[in-house]
Amino acid sequence: MNPQKAVVVFSGGQDSTTCLIQAIRRYGNDNVEAITFRYGQRHAIELERARRIAQDLGVRQTVLDLSLMQQITHNALMDETAEIQAPAGGVPNTFVDGRNALFLLYAAIYAKSRNARHLITGVCETDFSGYPDCRDIFIKSMNVTLNLAMDYDFQIHTPLMYLTKAQTWALADELGCLDYIREHTHTCYHGVAGGCGECPSCVLRERGLTEYLAGKTA
Ligand SMILES: [Zn+2]
Repeated sequence: MNPQKAVVVFSGGQDSTTCLIQAIRRYGNDNVEAITFRYGQRHAIELERARRIAQDLGVRQTVLDLSLMQQITHNALMDETAEIQAPAGGVPNTFVDGRNALFLLYAAIYAKSRNARHLITGVCETDFSGYPDCRDIFIKSMNVTLNLAMDYDFQIHTPLMYLTKAQTWALADELGCLDYIREHTHTCYHGVAGGCGECPSCVLRERGLTEYLAGKTA
């Protein structure tokens, strides 16, 4: 097992791109790989962006097809006809049951085959408190499960776990990639290039950026 090798769960969005760049700075791009999942997302633009970013950053990317998810679960993230709803106090209907558990399991199987120790994911409790599999307690439990399942000493890292979106933008700035992430990552639920500015994901992203930039110039 190589303690200097990492596999990053990578969607091409703001959060996972920040994690990928941070990992490259820490381990070097020869020691970092990206793993991307196709699971019936509404829009192909996300996958296209992910491919381009991995190429730009010079890291090996593996794309796995998990479209079988569509056979067993239904949600607004995977169904273009469904309206996105986020009920107060409830879980938004963009939540995909089991997604992070599956992603981490596949990422771990792959990481072990590549002798990598570290698994990195951009999940975050702060802004998406409605998603149960973004919680720190779930990640810790999954870490134990993976280590037992494969008799391997994986270390899962969640560098964004307690950051607000503004703080994630600050981290991107620290890493010298704020403009790159602004320009090249895709976060919009509606698949609009450059963002629709209206969906929950765009609103969160823009609000965080405005807050960060305002604090910077103040
Ligand atoms: Zn949007």
